[in-house]
Amino acid sequence: MVGAGPAGLAAALACRRQGLSVACFEARRPPLDKACGEGVMPAGLAALERLGVEPPERAAPIRGIRYRLGGLVADGDFPAGARGLGVRRTLLCAALVEAAERVGVELVWGARVEGLTAGGLATAAGEVSARFLVGADGLRSRVRRWAGLERPTRAPRRFGVVRHFRRAPPGERVEVWFGARAEAYVTPLAADETGVALLWAGEGGGFDALLASRLPPELGSWLAGGERLGPDRGAGPFRQATRGVIAGGRVALVGDAAGYVDALTGEGLALALESAEPLAAALAAGDLAAYARAHRRLARWPQALTRLALAAARRPPLARRGVAALARDPELFSRLLGAVGAGRPLAAVGLGRALRFARALLPPAAGGRPLRASERGA
Ligand SMILES: Cc1cc2nc3c(=O)[nH]c(=O)nc-3n(C[C@H](O)[C@H](O)[C@H](O)COP(=O)(O)OP(=O)(O)OC[C@H]3O[C@@H](n4cnc5c(N)ncnc54)[C@H](O)[C@@H]3O)c2cc1C
Repeated sequence: MVGAGPAGLAAALACRRQGLSVACFEARRPPLDKACGEGVMPAGLAALERLGVEPPERAAPIRGIRYRLGGLVADGDFPAGARGLGVRRTLLCAALVEAAERVGVELVWGARVEGLTAGGLATAAGEVSARFLVGADGLRSRVRRWAGLERPTRAPRRFGVVRHFRRAPPGERVEVWFGARAEAYVTPLAADETGVALLWAGEGGGFDALLASRLPPELGSWLAGGERLGPDRGAGPFRQATRGVIAGGRVALVGDAAGYVDALTGEGLALALESAEPLAAALAAGDLAAYARAHRRLARWPQALTRLALAAARRPPLARRGVAALARDPELFSRLLGAVGAGRPLAAVGLGRALRFARALLPPAAGGRPLRASERGA
């Protein structure tokens, strides 16, 4: 396993459950932190539980998502009984490490993998032989490049920066605020802690400059009531494309290495965690193609959501029409969240509702409903 982020650790845990022996080579040393909105969607939380990972005590339940755009507020809730979790990365990774150590995963810290070899991989400490290699080395995966799975992309360059605040969260939903080619992703992390990830396209300028110039002043005023915790962390550009997730019968990619879903969707962790079990099953069976099929199925909805979210982020009128439609019909929003989380086809939303939503996204001239003055927002 190259990388001991959430994807690598979850995959290692799942491999142990299949009776495989696993070593994880991680370039850094714990505590492992990273720029992240830190919202684990329900499917990811369920995967953690199946893998025997005890969720950290310091965390906050997430019951749904709130979109804010101008004066519009749209609330969607996860299906009954489903919960997500807002949790600091350091704590999530510590919980995964603890579970991995318990089941005998070999964790090698401070060990940067430098290349693939005929029989395994190369580290500064020498060559290690392995039957299979899993690239869980994140957004800028080098395993992906070494395995010939990288694909050029012309997708817009988007970036993120994250800051934590000592402040009670606004509620039990992740709040997504839409601004001027920028979004803020506000995640409850504990009763007294809130994380804010700013995502944007084009020129940046740091957290404070972005907050002041690209996001609604109400968000800045709300955050002014909280003490800043720790340093800001940045990430990007996000979009990386892959030719596939397996190569040469012995290399597989998982997590961000396997293809990125934009941070705006909040699905990256869930996809990484959910991929662990099919990956391990495929490795145990020596059938990597089965993993490629399972990954395609798991990634379909998060990728569709990424395309829709990015289109909305680029075209403010589309975002307004989408948020207005969800604000008018909270049941639709909730059903969409349920359908995405369960990987179910759009029919799960209800055909009539799905068609109404699709129509609401169209510009008025093409058959969509004109926005009321109250829905046009800022
Ligand atoms: C601003 C922002 C906000 C986000 N918000 C959310 C959110 O709210 N919810 C959500 O689900 N997702 C979110 N995401 C996405 C989420 O952070 C990722 O999907 C997730 O971290 C992927 O985990 P990973 O293990 O694949 O990669 P990583 O967490 O990046 O881990 C990769 C690991 O590999 C190691 N590594 C790299 N190269 C080598 C090497 N050569 N040798 C050894 N080790 C190596 C790295 O040190 C690292 O520890 C967000 C992302 C960003 C940038």
